[in-house]
Amino acid sequence: MKKIVITGGAGFIGSHVIRRFVKKYPEYQIYNLDALTYAGNLENIADIQNEPNYTFIKGDIVNEEFINELFQNHQFDAVIHLAAESHVDRSITDPLSFVKTNVIGTMNLLNAAKQIWHNNFEGKRFYHVSTDEVYGTLGATGLFTETTPYAPNSPYSASKASSDHFVRAYGETYGLPYVITNCSNNYGPNHFPEKLIPLLINNIIQNKPLPVYGDGKYTRDWLFVKDHAVAIDLVFHEGVNHETYNIGGFNEWQNIDLVKLLCQKMDEKLGKATGTSEKLITYVKDRPGHDLRYAIDANKINKELGWSPSVTFEEGLEQTIDWYLENSEWLNNVTSGSYQKYYNNQYE
Ligand code: NAD
Repeated sequence: MKKIVITGGAGFIGSHVIRRFVKKYPEYQIYNLDALTYAGNLENIADIQNEPNYTFIKGDIVNEEFINELFQNHQFDAVIHLAAESHVDRSITDPLSFVKTNVIGTMNLLNAAKQIWHNNFEGKRFYHVSTDEVYGTLGATGLFTETTPYAPNSPYSASKASSDHFVRAYGETYGLPYVITNCSNNYGPNHFPEKLIPLLINNIIQNKPLPVYGDGKYTRDWLFVKDHAVAIDLVFHEGVNHETYNIGGFNEWQNIDLVKLLCQKMDEKLGKATGTSEKLITYVKDRPGHDLRYAIDANKINKELGWSPSVTFEEGLEQTIDWYLENSEWLNNVTSGSYQKYYNNQYE
């Protein structure tokens, strides 16, 4: 039986990955290691909490002693590492917490895995889930490939780049079997409403301004979160050791066009006159060091592992909006308390 520890499984992407693994692989023992920060929410995975192959462990990956003991006690065969501080704006106001969790936390997991696996790496795997933001920014043309040099511009992307480098270095230096994936912007159910798409949905529901950075021309590639979970499953099982794979949606949008599309869909869903939600658009002061454009070349994972997104952006957005409208209790719970305080400081 495989014992797999998935970190950050109470967060947005992690919850979709955990659900997929617990349900699809009853022969695996899945451990969800999560500190339950503001971004971690066990409600995201309430449906699987009683599954016999699932165990939740509350713990902080920054705590070296705790991590070493946990790995010694459980002798995990594999790590799928998603736990991170993940919000760029927060990294600008508190960069050190990003270094602690994303760099030191990853180091602790690498060291603990190395210790329990000694030099016997048969059947072992360390999977680091990372971001396309490590590559910095593109101009109007071009795509990020797996060989694009790293040029992170925000404290968030610098911390993720650093952890990618350490994972790679542990592979080169100690032979640790690793894979890394660098993925574009995700969207979908359970996304914390500080991120663009759920923030817009929530604000439209509440008739609040829709903040758009700068001139709205920033361009991102968007991928439905469940398609990311499928890609992670595939790379975990079939990816080649010491390789990295870019994951993307082949789906570039300028922010302002995305906001307008979402407004139009929300007007339809809420039975409002066309153009009602667009009136809420408010341009706000730009984010410092804001990357102009991210776009992923996902041909490697497509050609080598046969992965491609299963839903179009329209379909994914439709599913996402429906989920938020049907889960108002979830939304109310996460938009209260510390999130609300943060939101007030950030945008008002
Ligand atoms: P998230 O912020 O929704 O979730 C992060 C989870 O990690 C939370 O459950 C949180 O409680 C947990 N966590 C944070 N600090 C911890 C610590 N010190 N110890 C243990 N657990 C801790 O993040 P997400 O959007 O689901 O992103 C997951 C991973 O995927 C991250 O590594 C992120 O860099 C990467 N990624 C995200 C995107 C995206 O668009 N969201 C795109 C590409 C890559």
